[in-house]
Amino acid sequence: MRERRWHPARWPLRLRLTAWYMLLFGLTLAVFAGYVYERQERGVREQTDAALQGATAQVLADLDTGGDRPALRRTDAAAALLRRLDQAGLSVRVLAADGTTAEAFGPFAAVAGAPPTMSGYDTLPREGADWRVYTQRVTAPGGAQVGWVQVARSLNATSDALETLFTQLLLALPLLLLLAGLGGFFLAGRALQPINRIARTAQAIGAHDLTKRIDYRGPADEIGRLATTVDRMLDRLQAGFARERRFTADAAHELRTPLAALKGRIGVTLARARGPEEYEHALRELEGQVDRLIHLSTDLLFLARLEQRGVRREPESLDLSALLESVAEQLRPLAEARSVLLCEEIPAGLALAGDVDHLIRLFLNLLDNAIKYTPPGGRVTMRAWGDGTAARVALGDTGPGIAPEHLPRIFERFYRADANRSRAEGGAGLGLAMAQEIARQHGGGIEVASAVGQGTTFTVVLPLDMASGPHAAPRAPAGRAPRQG
Ligand code: ADP
Repeated sequence: MRERRWHPARWPLRLRLTAWYMLLFGLTLAVFAGYVYERQERGVREQTDAALQGATAQVLADLDTGGDRPALRRTDAAAALLRRLDQAGLSVRVLAADGTTAEAFGPFAAVAGAPPTMSGYDTLPREGADWRVYTQRVTAPGGAQVGWVQVARSLNATSDALETLFTQLLLALPLLLLLAGLGGFFLAGRALQPINRIARTAQAIGAHDLTKRIDYRGPADEIGRLATTVDRMLDRLQAGFARERRFTADAAHELRTPLAALKGRIGVTLARARGPEEYEHALRELEGQVDRLIHLSTDLLFLARLEQRGVRREPESLDLSALLESVAEQLRPLAEARSVLLCEEIPAGLALAGDVDHLIRLFLNLLDNAIKYTPPGGRVTMRAWGDGTAARVALGDTGPGIAPEHLPRIFERFYRADANRSRAEGGAGLGLAMAQEIARQHGGGIEVASAVGQGTTFTVVLPLDMASGPHAAPRAPAGRAPRQG
């Protein structure tokens, strides 16, 4: 159990990052130290070998090969050469052809060795010190071999220096590793600090308090992006929660008002005995209220189904021009009853793929609103056109317009810009929400432009190719229709 608790996978990220960093840094350092040591060793050996070969050449130049055994000339130059070699720590040995020592200068004279058989370098491990030796065959002017020259240097000093270097590297390595580890730990801590803050904030945010934000002030790097993404997500969540709460409250309110009216009317009717006409009259009134309730719940159900499942049926090819004409015809009596002039500019043959019933509902809602909110003597225009990629239908009226502060919210469920007037007209504030959802399901949207006191124009955009439509369309937050001011 114990080991498991200390398994590296359970370490905090900061520790894991530091451990990785130290491991990689340690490996790099070790490779680097090995390289430095190896370079140094090779450099020293090459230097020694070059010195040995140079010295051998000088000795050969001063060698007398005339006699039966080779010997250094007894000249001042040869004596000076021997002194210089001695100062440089080099020993010289001259051997006869049979391998016996003819002459020897320096401490190497005492070092025993097998008679040489060929020219070249050799390292002789000897008690107390290793010797590096260069052996060179000596030939007489005629070409016959007359002996050997050996120049040697003790490797004592160089191996001491290399040993010191090795110790220093070995000591420096853990020290550097420790420093790197501390630095790494500090840097990892700094880099992870914002993440810790994000985690703490996220923990503090519950379903009931979505107001807190991370509010990251650092650079827009990976962490900055993470923080902004979380903040944006919280924005959306908060708006979504608020919308849902408002919706529940609104729906309850919308249902309660007619129910309370029903209850009141029933109470008054039952307060005393009445004649059959009075009962009938009361029941007819109640029927009206109940109709309103049925209408409201049908709309709510329709909207809920639409939002949940979208358009279930396969889109069918339809004649949009004919559809718009029939919607206009359906509402013409209402327009006439309100003395509103209804004009249409609909080219023939606008085709589209979609759900006929839903689209009829969409345009009925919009046109009904336009007529409903336009005062007598006003004018409502329905214009349609296609631009190659989408069909557009604009519904303009000369009504009171919608104030800019209401515009962003009129597509929300139950939202009414002018609650009293709207309720008096029988609207529950679901018409635009429904229209927008239907347009969205068809891959399109609704734009609205309005000027207070002058009128409002809703423009429905429906892509001709529904493939880019309902299923592919991203879900826009309800109440945030594409709009123009
Ligand atoms: P309602 O059932 O109240 O008409 P809607 O969702 O259809 O609900 O419309 C939401 C609100 O938008 C309305 O209450 C009204 O204030 C405003 N509105 C909609 N259409 C128009 C219009 N053509 N002119 C002015 N205001 C409008």
